[in-house]
Amino acid sequence: MQEHDVAIVGAGAAGLLAAIRAADRELSVVVLDKMSLPGRKLMITGKGRCNITNSADIDDFLMQVYPDGRFLYPAFKKFFSYEIIGLLEECGVESMLERGGRYFPKSEKADDVVDALYKKALKNGVNFIFNAKVNKIHYNNNDEVSGIEYVEGSKMKTLDVFNVIICTGGKSYPGTGSSGDGYVFARDAGHKIENLFPVLVPLETKEMHAAEMQGLTLKNINAKVLINGELKHEEFGDLLFTHFGLSGPVILTISRNVVYALDKGNDVKIQIDFKPALDVEKLDARVMRDLNENGKKKIGNLFRKLLPQKAIPVFLNVLSLDENKLANQISAVERKAIVELLKGMDFTVVGHRGFKEAVITAGGVCLKEINPKTMQSKLKKGLYFAGEVLDLDANTGGYNLQIAFSTGWLAADSI
Ligand SMILES: Cc1cc2nc3c(=O)[nH]c(=O)nc-3n(C[C@H](O)[C@H](O)[C@H](O)COP(=O)(O)OP(=O)(O)OC[C@H]3O[C@@H](n4cnc5c(N)ncnc54)[C@H](O)[C@@H]3O)c2cc1C
Repeated sequence: MQEHDVAIVGAGAAGLLAAIRAADRELSVVVLDKMSLPGRKLMITGKGRCNITNSADIDDFLMQVYPDGRFLYPAFKKFFSYEIIGLLEECGVESMLERGGRYFPKSEKADDVVDALYKKALKNGVNFIFNAKVNKIHYNNNDEVSGIEYVEGSKMKTLDVFNVIICTGGKSYPGTGSSGDGYVFARDAGHKIENLFPVLVPLETKEMHAAEMQGLTLKNINAKVLINGELKHEEFGDLLFTHFGLSGPVILTISRNVVYALDKGNDVKIQIDFKPALDVEKLDARVMRDLNENGKKKIGNLFRKLLPQKAIPVFLNVLSLDENKLANQISAVERKAIVELLKGMDFTVVGHRGFKEAVITAGGVCLKEINPKTMQSKLKKGLYFAGEVLDLDANTGGYNLQIAFSTGWLAADSI
């Protein structure tokens, strides 16, 4: 006699939604999480504000997903952004819409989202076991799930179950409990794991310029990715200089291509355009006007009209300009160099901050071996996967959480 219809491994975004749906369907559900609280990663999403989902329609949503969003179509058809917003509202968490179609809880507290989902699951009768690290999934001779093995405190325990939903997340921010255990369960079951790599991750650069501008945020700049000198990708957005290199939304967005190219041993440069609103001619005219109208001013002071204070010493240094040089002493060649640097300061990428600081893990359980209509493994009966453990990742904007919510829901709906 099985003790539970379904065991869910992981009480994160996917696990909580799976638990709510499974219990709704009157299945007996147990959720095990190795942490002492549910949703540890959820709590830090959106800088503690939780970008729950995005208002994009399904087709636009799928365009944001790698390597192939089409896998998610059945999951999104069943449970999409309207559904998670509606479910949270039912639980007393109202949402608000921000720039870029991003939904956040009105309270701006990720904890409220976790609290609401956890309480809803408890109310539905879900049994949670915390500080319980699942080590193994058992199968019978017919390749059907028969149970799980876990450690609670120092005790090894087992549970007999018909179905297991693996919702263990990826490998990024391992301090939240998501340290890649799901890939081991998948491999044990015979599944292929597509190459894992960190994405939405800050980048380390060679030059000292970034460190010298540490703490400076530039709004809506343009960042180009040059791979072996060829322009491969560009994005607009906010950038943050750090002691190790570059971070901020625009860098996280381009990091996918950068990490991939670095991995293949390519030379990767990020070129920052400090003045994306002006083309070279317009910027040149503007600089010329500034120089002409302020001939007696020192170039160091004149740069204040063009650049944030923290960037001025870096520009003077790269351009080998003395800050005390007067504007009317700047030659045409020097003016051209100023304009060129404003339109493109190069940063050589030497690495990235790894899984420890990556928002998402790319790669994961190979989608070809999972039924997209049910999230069930094609290799073992009763074994389901949901959330980041799958070979799916998306850009920032609430897309990643929706993937977890929808796949968790669909898995539980299919049992
Ligand atoms: C800093 C940060 C900010 C983010 N902000 C956003 C955002 O605003 N919007 C957005 O859409 N996405 C955001 N993301 C991504 C989003 O958090 C993840 O995509 C999402 O949490 C994945 O959900 P999941 O349920 O698959 O995994 P997780 O939420 O990572 O949950 C996995 C759970 O499994 C448990 N677990 C793992 N192994 C075991 C085991 N062996 N036994 C028992 N339990 C186990 C873990 O303890 C954990 O609780 C952010 C990520 C980070 C790191």
